Amino acid sequence: MELHVRDDLQCHRCLGPLVLTARVPYSFSRTDGQVVSGLRGISLCASCDRNDPPAQGVLAYLVLNPTVADDDAFAALVAEWACRKADLLVAETVPEEDGPDQP
Ligand SMILES: [Zn+2]
Repeated sequence: MELHVRDDLQCHRCLGPLVLTARVPYSFSRTDGQVVSGLRGISLCASCDRNDPPAQGVLAYLVLNPTVADDDAFAALVAEWACRKADLLVAETVPEEDGPDQP
């Protein structure tokens, strides 16, 4: 998983600043049984994602630790959040080659 903590990107939902972005691998089975896999871009917005429990964990950590070190606790929180996001993406099941491009 590629992870970027940043504040210079805009949320596509509310146009506020994003907290972080990541690219996560995902895959799903089509109705014909073929497995489709790729990378999807996901983003964390402090406003739009505030009611999502895994996102709350990441946001709370960042409030307490504004400069993220190479920290196992943070990695675990992000992994939980990313897994949930990836599950939601699979649930949407939009067969695309890749996610929205991040500049
Ligand atoms: Zn937002």
